[in-house]
Amino acid sequence: MRIKNLALHWQIFIGLLAGVLLAVFSRMFNFEPFVTERVAILGTIFLRALKMIIVPLIVSSIISGVTNIGDAENFGRLSLKTFAYYITTSLFAILIGLLFVNLISPGTGANFGFQQVPENLQTTAQGFGDIILRIIPTNPLASMVKGDILPTIFFSILFGFFITKSPDPYRQQLTDFFQGVFEVMMRLTHLIIKFAPIGVFALIAKIIAQTGLDAFAPLFRYMITVILGLLFHATITLPLLVYFLGGISPLAHFKAMSAALMTAFSTSSSSATLPLTIDSIENNAGVSNKVSSFVLPLGATINMDGTALYECVAAMFIAQVYGIDLSFGQQLIVVITALLASIGAAGIPMAGLVMITIILKAVGLPLEGIGLILAVDRILDMLRTSINVWSDSCGAVLIAHSEGETGLKVLRQKAN
Ligand code: ASP
Repeated sequence: MRIKNLALHWQIFIGLLAGVLLAVFSRMFNFEPFVTERVAILGTIFLRALKMIIVPLIVSSIISGVTNIGDAENFGRLSLKTFAYYITTSLFAILIGLLFVNLISPGTGANFGFQQVPENLQTTAQGFGDIILRIIPTNPLASMVKGDILPTIFFSILFGFFITKSPDPYRQQLTDFFQGVFEVMMRLTHLIIKFAPIGVFALIAKIIAQTGLDAFAPLFRYMITVILGLLFHATITLPLLVYFLGGISPLAHFKAMSAALMTAFSTSSSSATLPLTIDSIENNAGVSNKVSSFVLPLGATINMDGTALYECVAAMFIAQVYGIDLSFGQQLIVVITALLASIGAAGIPMAGLVMITIILKAVGLPLEGIGLILAVDRILDMLRTSINVWSDSCGAVLIAHSEGETGLKVLRQKAN
């Protein structure tokens, strides 16, 4: 079959288009149930397979990453760079969102006759303190079993770090063991990635067949604001950073990451996309395993530029709809809480929506406000998740470059 010889990202792209077409036809000719019940099973299988590998992949990746980094000095430097990049780019994203939402003012004068009350969405009552506390697991194995990623990462970093502090032969044995587990997980990843085009096809078809396009009309200006902000950040801010700080060609890097980006788009989950992100960054962009295995799992969980921007726009939009003018000080609180909410959001679909309640509470806006934006959240989630993954990958190449890595394939001087 010729299609097998096509590069993976083209196969995924074809899957994506075919999924959209099928969904549109299913709505035109009234056979949505076939898509949302039958075809969707293929997407569920793909998503379950990806989820199956998340926890073992994250644990082995972080532990082998930290043991590879070696001494405390290297570890400290790499962590500092990673966090500095994550916080800076998330803040940039939020400020861009703030700018666009103030310029376009999508909620001002909008009259929403309808008020959907969110179903199955418990508003999160947790504040900043809770987010920080939750990072420390009371029972690391329970966190892994529940798929609680932040505490899992925290424990894995500590575990990896203290492997490097242990005497031989244990240090070597454990280092080899976790490196071995990571190798196995990556091989498993490669197998699952082969099914990405089919999985993406089914996931997209299901979402569009379910949502349709009618829900968009009243929220059109709001969606445009989010989308413009996300596109600005993805095509201007981040490319400028990689171009000027890393000497990297944004276009070559985009090509290298395209399979992961399209998977992020259709799964709406940074965590589920992580296996592909690691694969693309190592094999296509040429980043070493040492950097990618530390930076990317962390990024998939705490670096969410798209989510951060979206949180800010959504909260400001809700304020505008309710006719509440937020002072400069309150807008500052929105910026800070949007950052925290994006750090605290899990890399799963619609996690960002629930986190908006933190911002709403902080500035005293009605929590029911999220009912206003519920209808289009899933679609915006697809975009913001892609931007989340895009920013993680830009961070990984930048950090690899700053560590003096010579194997990068996306440098702007190179022809490819
Ligand atoms: N779905 C996003 C992600 O996994 C999080 C969010 O809901 O904003 O990156």
